[in-house]
Amino acid sequence: MTTIEETTQAPTAEEIGLLRDSLRAWLDRHLSRERVRELDEARTVPVDLWRGLAELGVTGLRFGEEYGGSSADVRYDYTVIEELGRRYASMAAGYMVVSMAGKFVSMHGNDEQRQRLLPGLAAGDALISFGLTEPDTGTDLAAIKTRATLRDGQWHLSGQKLYITLAADAKTLIVLARTDEPTEGRNSNGLSLILVPRDQPGVNVRRLKMAGLRAAGTTEIFFDDALAPEDAIIGTRGKGLEALLGTLNHERILQAYMAVGIAEAAWTDARDYALQRTAFGRPIGTFQAVQHPLAQSYVELAGAKHLNEEAAAIEATGGNCVLEAAVAKHAAGEAAVNATDRALRIQAGYGLTEESDLMRFHRDARDMVSGPVSNEMARNIIAERCGLPRSY
Ligand SMILES: Cc1cc2nc3c(=O)[nH]c(=O)nc-3n(C[C@H](O)[C@H](O)[C@H](O)COP(=O)(O)OP(=O)(O)OC[C@H]3O[C@@H](n4cnc5c(N)ncnc54)[C@H](O)[C@@H]3O)c2cc1C
Repeated sequence: MTTIEETTQAPTAEEIGLLRDSLRAWLDRHLSRERVRELDEARTVPVDLWRGLAELGVTGLRFGEEYGGSSADVRYDYTVIEELGRRYASMAAGYMVVSMAGKFVSMHGNDEQRQRLLPGLAAGDALISFGLTEPDTGTDLAAIKTRATLRDGQWHLSGQKLYITLAADAKTLIVLARTDEPTEGRNSNGLSLILVPRDQPGVNVRRLKMAGLRAAGTTEIFFDDALAPEDAIIGTRGKGLEALLGTLNHERILQAYMAVGIAEAAWTDARDYALQRTAFGRPIGTFQAVQHPLAQSYVELAGAKHLNEEAAAIEATGGNCVLEAAVAKHAAGEAAVNATDRALRIQAGYGLTEESDLMRFHRDARDMVSGPVSNEMARNIIAERCGLPRSY
């Protein structure tokens, strides 16, 4: 059986270029700048577009052929998220969840769970969510309070999740819950990941009015005696957090590519504006004070792209990329915040209007430094990997 853990031959630049070009052409047709602005203003998750992405073969890129996917190299996945990030980061954020969930189910799900979930994800008609973060804790996931108790052959869940992408539109929620008491003095032991059907009386989903990634379907979820079958645990009972750690590098690299997409889009808009806007009888792009921030962002972006490729190459060949993924995520996130901020200064008044897309890029870029692991936490990981004592 093909699984996404197999290493594949590295795609050539031409092959990556072909995917990029066809995706861009598709996005030009289906997700114009005007449509993006409408979706963002309405905070509407573009659910209809998932099917289109599926027809392009994009949503199932990483799943096995037996599930309707194409077992493609992970670098194709990264090309997709970078392009989506460049066009509309809210859509990229949804893609990230689907990619992550697909990887997680492929790695840890049993045959029945894979058969049930992966074809729908590949076909773009069954969205999924990852419910980890809670009102009282995000970075420190071992401190979550949501509980699942086994009674009469069913899991009964009570608790609350916060900032969960796509949950109002998803059929299934992958929920981190405490199923067992901590062992060996570690809170991270005793947590399990449970597949919970969203559509049931015990699950209440409230859409949040976000300032960034406004159409990523970010929600709050309330579990009040929500039910899941006894066999709904993915992976080993009590070892959910451990299993999750095995997919975090992928998530961080996905976010790093998304951040580069956003940064590049903002950089290009600012450069074009600098060439066309005039002051004192000449284009503002002739002033050094306008050129230097663009050059600085270019340098940071070039570095971020290089770090992304390095992390992706290690992941694709099955290597340990904890350090490289954290470095790439950190660099790309900072590059995105800086590039969008500098771009806004260049557009000045125009940047604050909704005719410009820069404020959206900047709002979306803010998440690139705080999620899915904050850049402070990334620094902790980097320091630890560099031989310093663990600080958290
Ligand atoms: C748009 C969006 C979508 C999201 N989607 C999902 C989703 O689908 N599923 C999901 O489960 N979650 C999701 N999240 C949550 C996201 O993963 C968390 O916001 C993130 O993990 C940070 O957690 P927090 O916001 O609770 O911050 P906290 O953990 O409260 O951190 C607050 C601050 O303290 C700092 N800090 C904490 N601990 C340390 C330390 N040891 N050292 C240094 N600094 C530290 C952090 O860096 C941060 O600056 C989403 C968030 C957003 C904004």
